[in-house]
Amino acid sequence: MPDDLLLRLRDFHSDYFPRHQQRFQDLVAQGQHPKTLFIGCSDSRLVPYLLTGAAPGELFLVRNVGAFIPPYDQSHGLHGTMAAIEFAVLNLKVERIIVCGHSHCGAIRAAYEGAPEEAVALKAWLKLADEALLPVQASTEALRRTEQRAVVLQLERLMDYPMVRRAVEAGHLSLHGWHYVIEDGEVHVFDAEQGAFVPASLASHSGTGPYQPYVEHDGQILAD
Ligand SMILES: [Zn+2]
Repeated sequence: MPDDLLLRLRDFHSDYFPRHQQRFQDLVAQGQHPKTLFIGCSDSRLVPYLLTGAAPGELFLVRNVGAFIPPYDQSHGLHGTMAAIEFAVLNLKVERIIVCGHSHCGAIRAAYEGAPEEAVALKAWLKLADEALLPVQASTEALRRTEQRAVVLQLERLMDYPMVRRAVEAGHLSLHGWHYVIEDGEVHVFDAEQGAFVPASLASHSGTGPYQPYVEHDGQILAD
């Protein structure tokens, strides 16, 4: 008896694929030309294709715990996220980078409450959220604000990547900070001018783009 996952693989091949075959074959013949690098938290409830209505070939995806960006420290370590950013900007020449955090993020909660002792890589990784943490108890409200602050912090880190900064300053690349509220089914987009996240239903654009390097959040203000 085939297991559930095997049945789903068969369904993809027999049901979905025949209806979209031409698109997949075009993507093979012409190669991929995604315009968007989507850096999202690994959380299973965040589904980039559903949020953006993207089809195969449209999103170059990076998922990691918390949707964090490693600092550009020239350590040349095994940084999968850094490698993906370099590839997306230098090879694929994407036109936008989205950093997408979300409500009820386990990474942000763990940044306050700690991770299992054995999870040494996870604990080191979570330090990438340190600058976004608030000196308060991890209340629901504090977690929400921290999730948003973490997104802005990652946008700032992205600007430290020379190839990102170059493309942004040349007007070829825009950076978008998103906070997806799972229970509302709505993405809030970061507006650098307002220094705030605005619900997509009220926003006039899908994010900061183009990110203005001189607008620095001061670690405190991110109006709700
Ligand atoms: Zn998360």
